[in-house]
Amino acid sequence: MAGTLGAMASTEPTLFDQVVNLCKRRSFVFPSAEIYGGFRSTYDYGPLGVLMLRNVKDAWWRSMVQLRHDVVGLDAAILSPPQVWEASGHLDNFSDPLVDCTGCKTRHRQDQLNDPDVCPSCGESGTFTEARAFNLMFKTQAGPVEDAGADVYLRPETAQGMFINFKNIIETSRKKPPFGIAQVGKSFRNEITPGNFVFRTREFEQMELEFFVPPNEAESWYEYWMNERYQWYLDLGIPDDLLRLRAHEADELSHYSSGTSDVEFLFPWGWGELEGIANRGDFDLTQHAQHSGQKLEYFDQGTGERYVPHCIEPAAGATRSMMAFLMAAYDEEQVNDDTRTVLRLHPRLAPYKVAVLPLSKKDTLLPKAEEVLHSLQPHFMCDYDITQAIGKRYRRQDEIGTPYCVTIDFDTLEDNAVTVRERDSMEQQRIPVDQLVNYLDEQLGL
Ligand code: ATP
Repeated sequence: MAGTLGAMASTEPTLFDQVVNLCKRRSFVFPSAEIYGGFRSTYDYGPLGVLMLRNVKDAWWRSMVQLRHDVVGLDAAILSPPQVWEASGHLDNFSDPLVDCTGCKTRHRQDQLNDPDVCPSCGESGTFTEARAFNLMFKTQAGPVEDAGADVYLRPETAQGMFINFKNIIETSRKKPPFGIAQVGKSFRNEITPGNFVFRTREFEQMELEFFVPPNEAESWYEYWMNERYQWYLDLGIPDDLLRLRAHEADELSHYSSGTSDVEFLFPWGWGELEGIANRGDFDLTQHAQHSGQKLEYFDQGTGERYVPHCIEPAAGATRSMMAFLMAAYDEEQVNDDTRTVLRLHPRLAPYKVAVLPLSKKDTLLPKAEEVLHSLQPHFMCDYDITQAIGKRYRRQDEIGTPYCVTIDFDTLEDNAVTVRERDSMEQQRIPVDQLVNYLDEQLGL
């Protein structure tokens, strides 16, 4: 990793700045509504960002749904009626303690202050108002009439979709505990202190699993999911010295949770949560059963056994994880007299897997280059770049993490072979065009 915590004190650009700049310059992430001066802490994912974010979500879905027989997927509505949030406790409890500085008129989350008496903006002490609870849910109105009966909420988490569909799924999917429901999608929180780029935004994407288990198996499944989820980030290339699993202290736990652990990443400003894994007991199903009047339980027809399953919840952020993957992958190295910027992204996460580069723009090479491109496109997300010197084009691909570059040169027209260059080692190999898909497939190991 090029930048470090230490770098923040010097005038060198920090790792944070380097990654944010790269995101803008190479169309990963743009500030939203920029032509109107920007819309604070809201971001749009550009041509490369949308590919990478999709890859993060697909990697999660692959490991949580595709490779398992005990998890099914769901895509629930974003708008939901107040009853859902009454039952879940969000209407009463989903709030942050908010204080205003009467000196400099800034607003802060009391629980995030280093010193609860000192304003971090102006440095004055004793200028804070009493803390007020500030509900983080976005409320809007459904239908043409603005009255209280038309109130609806944008979901602040995807999890409630799984609880309110538990009955539908258990009745129609032939699943029995232990089994899970997985969902990826947008969530919205009116955060008081958004910031640190896409780490904390008001609109973000989550990847959540609710895993329902017999009550006496809850503890062992909690341990299981903690290990699985920690390993997922390691497998996708985050080094273990930048990752830790931190168990919540007793005073951090929600009243219904008998255990919560966070997977944390060492961001340039310190450790930050990527994912929480919680042992939620039967709280959610019991709450929704009481509020809806429906039975939310499992009945085993074979044994006659009836119980409310307990739930283990691994809840991750897709946008926040993408930022961690970018930070962990960012590297600068000296190559001869040049500084090479390279994103050492896991191939599964890299926006493009392969770049096809004709050595020159000459008409003689382009038809062959396009033929090679078209043969690769059904298999891999490819870039195609014909401008500037080949060395510059390699560097451009290194900077966005493309694992392989395929160069078509004049020899290709004779021997029907291409040069394949690997991103990290920069080693080159000559590969026959008719073996190219197999070769790349094997090397990428997707
Ligand atoms: P935090 O303490 O950082 O506010 P949280 O504990 O409230 O997070 P959860 O409710 O457990 O977060 O949500 C699960 C995951 O969703 C988090 O680990 C994080 O990756 C992501 N997430 C939560 N809030 C945001 C946000 N405002 N912006 C981006 N990602 C978020």
